[in-house]
Formats: sequence, structure tokens, C-alpha cells
Amino acid sequence: VAPDPQAGAAVKAADRAHVFHSWSAQGLIDPLAVAGAEGSYFWDYDGKRYLDFTSGLVYTNIGYQHPKVVAAIQEQAGRLATFAPAFAVDVRSEAARLIAERTPGDLDKIFFTNGGAEAVENAVRMARLHTGRTKVLSAYRSYHGATSTAINLTGDPRRWASDTASAGVVHFWAPFLYRSPFYATTEAEECARALTHLEDTIAFEGPGTIAAIILETIPGTAGIMTPPPGYLAGVREICDRHGIVFVLDEVMAGFGRTGTWFAADHYDVVPDLLTFAKGVNSGYVPLGGVAISAEIAATFDKRPYPGGLTYSGHPLACAAAVATIRAMEDEKVVEHAAHIGETVLGPGLRELADRHPSVGEVRGLGAFWALDLVRDRETREPLVPYNASGEAAAPMAAFGAACKANGLWPFINMNRTHAVPACNITEAEAKEGLAALDAALAVADEHTA
Ligand code: PLP
Repeated sequence: VAPDPQAGAAVKAADRAHVFHSWSAQGLIDPLAVAGAEGSYFWDYDGKRYLDFTSGLVYTNIGYQHPKVVAAIQEQAGRLATFAPAFAVDVRSEAARLIAERTPGDLDKIFFTNGGAEAVENAVRMARLHTGRTKVLSAYRSYHGATSTAINLTGDPRRWASDTASAGVVHFWAPFLYRSPFYATTEAEECARALTHLEDTIAFEGPGTIAAIILETIPGTAGIMTPPPGYLAGVREICDRHGIVFVLDEVMAGFGRTGTWFAADHYDVVPDLLTFAKGVNSGYVPLGGVAISAEIAATFDKRPYPGGLTYSGHPLACAAAVATIRAMEDEKVVEHAAHIGETVLGPGLRELADRHPSVGEVRGLGAFWALDLVRDRETREPLVPYNASGEAAAPMAAFGAACKANGLWPFINMNRTHAVPACNITEAEAKEGLAALDAALAVADEHTA
């Protein structure tokens, strides 16, 4: 496509005049005007192309403009563009069947939402009604969405401004050995202490008051911390013992991201409710949902479920989900994510860590990796302080600018960069991304002690 800077300037001007952006000081932002995207790349109106190591907001698991998904949306739009949720609609039924067949255990009923936060809201509502209790436990270092309950469950600074209505939300520490809240030195110790801490929290909150524990199977934006062996099974056992509903939030980790359909598959654990969104249809049309166990679904067999959304199971979104899941199956995208993680991204990132003093730890699997950047490897002092902004965050800003100058669009959160490309990224593209990170990490190295 020929560059067209004038068109880009017009897009930018209208954006700045009328679009109110998420999470931003409106007068301080300068969004890039995007002219197009395909596969793992997007480009601007000046003709500069970027390799997207963010998959949007970690959701374009099959990349941009997948022809089969685009065609399915077009076909559905021509056939039946929309229909209200109370009716049985072919693509909605088929999307629910395909999802239920892939979710772990007996999570066989699907409640559709328009995204992840609504999925979390509804999972919590189901848990409260099922148990007759109100409190919900969630972890620090987590993100669950930006609506009322979801933002209060969130365990990062995005919650602080909205913390006024956190009816019954209690936060606890989940395991994270590299920055252990429990001063542990081994995975086994971290796991045991984290489970004891959770038990203690439950005892002091009152087990009979707790409806649910919600965890990201592998926390995403908070830093891609794979839980130690035994932790999720331990939480499952604690929930069973106290009659607490176990919710796994797989909005980011689900649908192939970790090299399995769901991250829970790595840990042999089945939650009572599983929330999903993003990768279910690569975000081509907004869609999320809750996969529900037989026992919780039965609660609402005779008693109406008091929740719903106008666009629940929207036909365009469901058509995109059906086409996405089939394309992922046909093209072995999930297997590919596992393979590229084991053979290219994991080894490549570890090799960068060997050479760059700013890399404190490499963690992840599949197409889901984090580099924890530090000022000092010995003390593990983060490259920028927790929740830093402005001047204090300058080293990460310099790293990000270097990535972009090298044609890589980076995911940056606090002192971390995440390598979270499309799950079908090719080996050559992954290596191109690693080379750009290599060059940008030299900039981060300048800020080490
Ligand atoms: N849960 C997790 C784990 C997420 O990563 C996100 C979004 O990043 C959400 C929930 C919220 O999803 P949405 O932005 O679609 O509401």
C-alpha cells in the first residue's frame, strides 16, 4: 500500500478531536495512526511497518486479517447479521459446542458476553448465587477488567481510582518466586507458603463468607508468572474443602496462547467457572464468556439466571469464533505456539538474558513470555520503580522507543516487556523480533547499576 501521510494526519486529527482514549491523560497522548495490518505486522500511513509483539492487547492469536475468519464474518453478515440472545441461532450453538468441547472437565455450558470484564462480572454473580455468599478473593499482581467488580478484583494500580465499591473483595498474594512475597528460595517452598497464606486469609475472613476465589491461571499483564507445580491443585483442594467456587480467568491465557487450548491444561486442574475472551475469535468481533460446570449450571435449571446482555452470543462474533477455532485446528496453531515457545522464543530470550545485564528473569511458555528488566541482577531492583510514570519511567520509555525504531511494537508494563506475538508467528518473524529486542536491550543496559 502506498504511503499517504496526509491521510494519516487527517485520521490523527479527528482522533485527537473526538476519541477519548482508555487509561490516558487525553492531552498527553500521541496515538499512531494505523493504515493496515496483516498476519503479525501492521503499518502506518508513512509506510513504516511494525512486527506486533503485543498481538493488539494480547488477543490476535491468529494474527490480523486471517482470510478464513474475515470471510466467515462477511458470510454471516450477508446471511443473518444479528439476532437477539433468547433464540437458538446456528452459529451461536456451534460456537458454544466448539468452546465447550475444548474447555477442561465438565465446563460444558457457555454464557456469552462481549468481552473479558463482563465474563468476570457474570462469573462472580454465578458464584455468589450458587453459594449464597458474597466475598470474593483475588490476587495482587492480577488484572480482571475495568468494570465495577472486575476492576475491584484487579490487583494492580489500575484498581486504585475505582476502589470505592469493592463490596467483599479481598486480595491475597499468589506465588511468584522471582519476587517472592514469602521470602521463599525454591518453587516448592513458594508453593507451600502461598497455600498456607491463602488458608490463613480464608480462616480470618471466614470460610462461610467466601463465594469464590478467582485467579488468572497464569497472570498475564501482571508479569506471566507460571504457578509452581501443585499450587493450582492446592487451591482447588482448598476450594472444595470450604465450598468455595474456583474461577480461573483465562481471558488472556486461553485459546492457544500457552501452547494448549487453555492454560489450565498444563496443571491438570478443572475450575468451576472459566472466563474467556480475546483469543476465542482473535478479537475480530467483541466476544467473551463464562464456561460453567455442570453443578453450577444446575443451580439455574429451575431458577432463572438473573443476568444478560443485549449482544450475548452475537452472530457476527460467534461466526468469527467458529471460523477461528476451526482455523486454529486446521493450521495447528495451538501446537505451533507450543513449538515456537520451546524452540525459538524461549531459547532466544534466554540467550538475550545471557548477554544483557538488564534482563533479570525470562519466564513463560508458548507465545506468552515476560522479560523482567532490572537495574541490578543481584538485588533484582526493577529497572523502574513499581507504577513509575514520567521521568521515573524514562528507562522503559527509552527501551520502548528503541524497539519501535527497530520495527518492533513492544508490550511494556512497568519494568517488564512481554513477548506476546500472534500464536501463528513464523520462525523467521520470531527471530526478527528477537533481533530487535537485542538492539533495544542495549539501551536498557545503559540504565543498569
Ligand atoms: N481478565 C484478564 C486476565 C485480562 O487480561 C483482561 C484484559 O486484558 C480482562 C480480564 C478484561 O477483558 P476486557 O478488556 O475484554 O474486558
